Amino acid sequence: MVREETDVVVVGAGLGGLSTAVFLGLHGVPALVVDRHPSTSVQPKARGQNPVVMEGLRAAGVDQAILDASPPGRAAMTIAISRSMAGPVLHSFTEEMPDITAYSPAPFGMASQAKAEAALAARARELGARVSFNTRCESVTQDADGVTVTLCDVQSGREREVRARYLVAADGHKGGLRELAGIGAHGRGTFERTTTVRFLADLTAYAGQDAVVLHYMQNPELPGGTGVIVSTDNPGEWVAGMSVDPDRDDAATAGIIRTLVGVPDLELDVLDGATWEYAHRLADRFRTGRVLLVGDAAHLMPPTGGQGGNTAVLDGYHLGWKLAAVIRGQAGPALLDSHDTERRPFAEAVCEWQVANLVVRQRPDLADDSIGEPMDPIALLFGYACPDGAFVKETAPGAPDSLFDDPNDPSGRPGTRVPHAWLRGPGGPVSPRQLLGPHFLVLTGAPDGLSAAEKAAAELDVPLRAYSVRAGAGADAGAGSGSGPGAGIDAAIGPNELVDPDGGWARRSGVGTGGTVLVRPDGLVAWRGPDPAELGAALRAVLRR
Ligand SMILES: Cc1cc2nc3c(=O)[nH]c(=O)nc-3n(C[C@H](O)[C@H](O)[C@H](O)COP(=O)(O)OP(=O)(O)OC[C@H]3O[C@@H](n4cnc5c(N)ncnc54)[C@H](O)[C@@H]3O)c2cc1C
Repeated sequence: MVREETDVVVVGAGLGGLSTAVFLGLHGVPALVVDRHPSTSVQPKARGQNPVVMEGLRAAGVDQAILDASPPGRAAMTIAISRSMAGPVLHSFTEEMPDITAYSPAPFGMASQAKAEAALAARARELGARVSFNTRCESVTQDADGVTVTLCDVQSGREREVRARYLVAADGHKGGLRELAGIGAHGRGTFERTTTVRFLADLTAYAGQDAVVLHYMQNPELPGGTGVIVSTDNPGEWVAGMSVDPDRDDAATAGIIRTLVGVPDLELDVLDGATWEYAHRLADRFRTGRVLLVGDAAHLMPPTGGQGGNTAVLDGYHLGWKLAAVIRGQAGPALLDSHDTERRPFAEAVCEWQVANLVVRQRPDLADDSIGEPMDPIALLFGYACPDGAFVKETAPGAPDSLFDDPNDPSGRPGTRVPHAWLRGPGGPVSPRQLLGPHFLVLTGAPDGLSAAEKAAAELDVPLRAYSVRAGAGADAGAGSGSGPGAGIDAAIGPNELVDPDGGWARRSGVGTGGTVLVRPDGLVAWRGPDPAELGAALRAVLRR
């Protein structure tokens, strides 16, 4: 058997695995990614990338590819609960699309899962990853020094053994690596099995001119009383979701689609179908030794709310720099414990949110006292505060400790995302969220902040970019919202300098005009305080050195 060695094997080339490979590559560790399928997904599944995902993809240089792959026209998705597509509409979510410009400088992406996976695979390869399709992971064993993975070429049946330092299980909810690694699971279980059917029809009369459409139907004439219609990347091609019936033939399927659309004599062609499990299931731990779980392998949720794929991408974003830092000797292995302590509470919340959405949008019959109202999406996307992890936790009496901040009044505390606020740099307006990349970030108002940051980075030998932030002339520092992009290029601003025009950064970061904030490569605040001499100790604590 051929034997080879590598740093990281990623099993699964879906959104979770490819994102992990992109961010590992960005941080200098090319991964081996394997998938048993012949290519990235061709199934019409997820659509849309939330702004938090887009910020991460920007740092990895793949956001433009996602925007280019998004359908032209409306940036937002039309989402409605209807009796049928032709009406009546019972509830429209479209008007409720939140304005996110106060929380993020990034737009929503609207790429389909198929196009997003292709873009991520291309970027992962550019960053050094080897992506090997038709390759099934047969077995994994781990010991104190590494993992041994047996891979099988699906076409030839040839096996090869890979020895790696770490394995990322991105094998979705059906892959089985979680179970193999001895990690249990918990959750509300399976709600239903759903068939999605691709079909061709002219629905412009019912979908209007909107490029991206999602209609949940609640209608007693449908099997199970519910169904879905979603647009695809291809004009005239649609996907209908309906409850599973193995005995249903194409004629019966076409009849259900006509009920979903609300047009009894609709002309249509059924193309093909796939079956999915709507379930709520979370791994009890996201890490065991040298095996780390991301994506659906770690947290399976119903698709209502569109966060399964987004959360998978974010898992890779937050894991990539940590795993790379450990492999490159910049961090101790204990840093990887934070994958569980940081990501699992978020996954629990987002899975619960999607279940609440399922009840509202499709399955009111499932309502019970244990399922709350859907959470405010703005808080969910922008307000998460890791309860524990790779940051210097503030524990002073009265320090906030809720799982979510109010994004309109962020605390700026370690463990939350570095807040968006428009600053002015030499090249024009810039948000701290746009300064993220394969490096730590320091924003400091302290006179000796830049030299302290340089010293800390040199001592720990980690990439770090530091900027001094000064209050804008005439600004009522500390009072502004920081939510307007402000003026254009300013020649009086130096290369490592930023201006806080209205005090929005001082307020949102919570450090005022003279404080210092250390930000991790994945945009989480790692430490903040008045004395930049503490930066070295903070970095050491974050990196578990
Ligand atoms: C109908 C539907 C609609 C959805 N809509 C949305 C949406 O709008 N927005 C959203 O964010 N999410 C949505 N989701 C959820 C989203 O599709 C998933 O959360 C996402 O695909 C998870 O990505 P993943 O990489 O974790 O897993 P997967 O996409 O399942 O990828 C896992 C990969 O691992 C491979 N694999 C498994 N075992 C092995 C093995 N032993 N060896 C080699 N390879 C292996 C598989 O072939 C697969 O390619 C939807 C899901 C469905 C079903």
